[in-house]
Amino acid sequence: MKKMYDAILGFAIGDALGVPYEFKNRDSFLCTDMVGYGTHHKPMGTWSDDTSMTLATLDSLKSNGGKIVTEDMRTRFNQWLLNGDYTTDGDVFDAGITTCTALKKGKPAVGEWDNGNGSLMRVLPLAFISCTDDEIRAVSAITHGHRISQEACVIYVRVAQKLLAGEPVSSIIPTLKFDKPFDRLHFIDTLSRSQIKSSGYVVDTLEAALWTVSHEGDWEKGFRGDVLTAVNLGSDTDTVAAVAAGLAGIIYGLEDVLKNGK
Ligand SMILES: [Mg+2]
Repeated sequence: MKKMYDAILGFAIGDALGVPYEFKNRDSFLCTDMVGYGTHHKPMGTWSDDTSMTLATLDSLKSNGGKIVTEDMRTRFNQWLLNGDYTTDGDVFDAGITTCTALKKGKPAVGEWDNGNGSLMRVLPLAFISCTDDEIRAVSAITHGHRISQEACVIYVRVAQKLLAGEPVSSIIPTLKFDKPFDRLHFIDTLSRSQIKSSGYVVDTLEAALWTVSHEGDWEKGFRGDVLTAVNLGSDTDTVAAVAAGLAGIIYGLEDVLKNGK
């Protein structure tokens, strides 16, 4: 239970840190702490769609005895989108086009250009249950049904589960097989910052998150250092930081950051 708290709260912190800087170019800003306003004009600590949909997923799993019931998840996503459930203030903002369209139509987007990070941003709770790869793909396909989005979700959940089992990220990556377009993950820790994109394309987001927690860069490794590094990659700051922070929360825990701000 503690690790779930670290992962989900960590995820929300990453999201809220990134919200004020979303869409800003890399190195056009420097995030060093939680601030408010900026891109979405929201008070400090406001999380966005990423955390709202993650909480909806978690709520669905809890309400169904830890089982995946995709129709129930879809209902809760609609409650977020239409009613503002799972938000900080009832206001739905930053909702992705693919997600909105898929929820309104009741069927997923399946095109090659429908591979934003909208399903990756909400699947972390699946790391805390026993599930098959196909079940993870089905959860992605509530909104994002293309193979690339589905496989990104599978990779993220499996990496998170191995971290939960206590394996270091450096030993997890060599044990996984990544097909194109995920093949750069085999050597993600060796890439330089300039080789990492941090866009809303699901492959870029997953790469940026795994790079952040695996690369030995010129920042102090730890929850705070990793998550600020993720935000400062720019572009899709909230989702990149949230996806990275969910993993960093599992790796480092949140005691130090909550007590000492580190
Ligand atoms: Mg967002």
